Amino acid sequence: MSSTITEGARPDDARRHNRGAVLRRLHLDGPCTRAVLATELGLNRSTIKAVVDGLADSGLVSERLPSRRSGAGRPSLLVVPSPQAALVLAVDIRVDRVAMALFGLGGEILGRLSWRLRPGAAVPRDVITGVLESAVVLASELSLPVVAAGVSVPGVVRHSDGLVRDAPHLGWVDVPLGEQLTAGLRMPVTVANDAELGALAEQTRGVARGVADMMFVAGDVGVGGGVILGGRAIRGASGYLGELGHMVVRPDGRECHCGCRGCWETEVGANALCRALNLPLNIGRGELYAELRELGADPANALDRLADYTSWLGLGLVNVVNLLAPRLVVLGDLFAALPEPVLEVVGTRVRERSIVSRAVEYTEVARSTLSRDAHLVGAAEAAFSPILEAAVS
Ligand SMILES: [Zn+2]
Repeated sequence: MSSTITEGARPDDARRHNRGAVLRRLHLDGPCTRAVLATELGLNRSTIKAVVDGLADSGLVSERLPSRRSGAGRPSLLVVPSPQAALVLAVDIRVDRVAMALFGLGGEILGRLSWRLRPGAAVPRDVITGVLESAVVLASELSLPVVAAGVSVPGVVRHSDGLVRDAPHLGWVDVPLGEQLTAGLRMPVTVANDAELGALAEQTRGVARGVADMMFVAGDVGVGGGVILGGRAIRGASGYLGELGHMVVRPDGRECHCGCRGCWETEVGANALCRALNLPLNIGRGELYAELRELGADPANALDRLADYTSWLGLGLVNVVNLLAPRLVVLGDLFAALPEPVLEVVGTRVRERSIVSRAVEYTEVARSTLSRDAHLVGAAEAAFSPILEAAVS
């Protein structure tokens, strides 16, 4: 009896696995020919034909001629993911604004909008109402159903149900964001910490694409990290891993809102950066980014004015690399906007001072290429993940 089930299950499992691999490849890496799919995935042509035909019958992919011909002869058709086959909503709640976007299968952004928040005065109920109303506006522009949502929050988020336990820079404690958005949007909603989603974004569509051991370290008012080791997100108890900003680096330093003194965040967060540059702490992000760009044009001046800041950034990263042994650290948000010479010094410091970096023949430190969209892209991929799985079963 059991052997019958096993014999029956095996081809089905293989078919599902192959469908999943092809769909994921097309979603993350874009259109390609059947021949490329066969080579990359190590499957024979008849299997690829069966899988692509099946995905096309389900409306998930289509085939078309390439827009540019290469070489002589009949061009091969490209297999293209159909954006409208699965639309997800991504929401990035930040200290000073909320950004939202609709992503189609394949990762294209089909619509977006954002609005400002008064820093420190974002009432959860108002943000939730704003998200629900904006979701209707975005979806109505496309006249297509949205099937899932992902939400990025700058705080400590319970993985199981999206409860925001503590988002200090929003002033939120125990906000049932996942539950309320699931009820309001009437679709599955994944809520996660912003840096965890940043790591997912960088690993699927950014500079860490395909790197199995990586982390995303992002700084704004707060500083946090997302960790992927062995290709899997590392979340810790209830999903609360990632509060790198509260690693104590200077016991005689400034008081931190978390109750400790001398947290990394007090030395390298946005306020510390503003202090180093003699800028007001409440400066708008547009102005702060413009200041950093200007500073980048004068490398010697940048290194001089940010000497202490650079030391603290390097010191914290050395600790983090020693603890988690990533091959690549991707810097996001304000850290990604720091002048090039500053990041060069930080990278050198990690290479020279981290025993783990030396052992793995150097952990690389790179700037995010997704920039301010990293959280949105990660939120979208978190929403896509169960859909891709369901689509192939
Ligand atoms: Zn702290």
